[in-house]
Amino acid sequence: MRFEDVHITVAGLGVSGRAAARVLAGRGALVTAVDARTEGIEGLDELRAAGVAVRLGDGETLPADAELVVTSPGWKPSTPLLAAAAARGVEVIGEVELAWRLRPADGAAPWLALTGTNGKTTAVRMLTSILRAAGHDAVAVGNVGEPIVEAVLAEHDVLAVELSSYQLHWSSTLAPHAAAVLNIAPDHLDWHGSLDAYAAAKGRIYGPGTIRVCNADDEATVRLAGPDARGFTLRMPAPGQFGVVEDLLVDRATVADPARSAEELAELKDVVPFAPHNVANALAAAALARTFGVPCEAVREGLRAFKPDPHRIAFVASAGGVDYVDDSKATNPHAAAASLAAYESIVWIAGGLLKGADVDELVAAAAPRLRGAVLLGADRERIAEALRRHAPDVPVREVAETDTGAMDLVVREAARLARPGDTVLLAPAAASMDMFTDYKARGNAFAAAVRRQAPAADPDS
Ligand code: ADP
Repeated sequence: MRFEDVHITVAGLGVSGRAAARVLAGRGALVTAVDARTEGIEGLDELRAAGVAVRLGDGETLPADAELVVTSPGWKPSTPLLAAAAARGVEVIGEVELAWRLRPADGAAPWLALTGTNGKTTAVRMLTSILRAAGHDAVAVGNVGEPIVEAVLAEHDVLAVELSSYQLHWSSTLAPHAAAVLNIAPDHLDWHGSLDAYAAAKGRIYGPGTIRVCNADDEATVRLAGPDARGFTLRMPAPGQFGVVEDLLVDRATVADPARSAEELAELKDVVPFAPHNVANALAAAALARTFGVPCEAVREGLRAFKPDPHRIAFVASAGGVDYVDDSKATNPHAAAASLAAYESIVWIAGGLLKGADVDELVAAAAPRLRGAVLLGADRERIAEALRRHAPDVPVREVAETDTGAMDLVVREAARLARPGDTVLLAPAAASMDMFTDYKARGNAFAAAVRRQAPAADPDS
């Protein structure tokens, strides 16, 4: 695609917007970069030096000469600037679509892409680790890592691309070598308008010729991927699928030796931290890597070398025979359901901003495993109500977001409810912004409170 002398508006000067503006200016485009903010934006001098016209304090008006808009993924289509573009017939794309169009004509690194409501970052990091174990120069990009517009221009063998539903909404011509949808559950519905629209956005990850990977245990992903997709399952895999046989992860889709019905990829114990949802993430990563010719040994080695990002079922400490686990990144009910399914007897710490999500199904499924629950934050009463309905005998404590030292109170109550052998699990099922800057701050507050209150941690922890 030609960018020279094209008038392009870059909407939103976050990390990806700034990278897009820089790269486009380098290609000779006439770039106007706009943002509603007037301060707190980094790298403006560098942008101006690159010839980008920067307009601050107005994120609403579409420049009169705009021929293409590159939007920040989070901007809603109803934002005045984007609505004006739609009304004038000006194409709006995101940074990911821009990166796809910027790929060099010859020798572009193939994309192995994935999306899903939950597990994206974990799976993309597992995939990167597997690709590197196979000797590839691979990077994780998209919704994580470096901006994808820069990565497509660098010399990598292959890109492991994490895509959010917003990024996919603003994409139209992607055709990755292979792509996986990990799972689909209601999330971000206020942005997308409906579950169908949200799922449709995720479906844009599959382009013409893309090898389609889906979650055979999640019907919504199977429908999206259509026939001929390679499914992964936590059960015994059918031919053409990836799955689990006893304590092994196996591949029944790309079996090289005709005398064999399956290839062994790794052992369940190679998946760390171990939890059923991480086995699903590992299978998805393996399925994508195998489309790129990665040998089984590299799958195993890559999974063993994988280091999870913080706040994803992260062990904090063990005290009095009770494990304390931080899964602050479980910011929606589907994620919390996955982590609750990984433990037997749980004191559950939950609450925050539910963003309109329904917790009924989650609470009903978790009820038999709950020793107790400690609820905090703005929407705690909604969870308390569901607990009264589905688990009337489970003791529940509530901590208001306005209480001083709220997290200390939460941990103290949880410790009181727990018995040796239990897990105290922070899996809030909700966003954190009612009390914390983000999920990381919430997880750090939890870990700090645990450490303050459990000075006599068990010697083996
Ligand atoms: P994302 O990047 O999609 O937010 P992460 O890998 O950061 O996903 O994981 C976020 C949270 O989602 C985890 O802390 C865990 O609670 C949950 N989770 C991870 N993988 C899965 C999965 N495959 N299915 C359901 N929930 C998951």
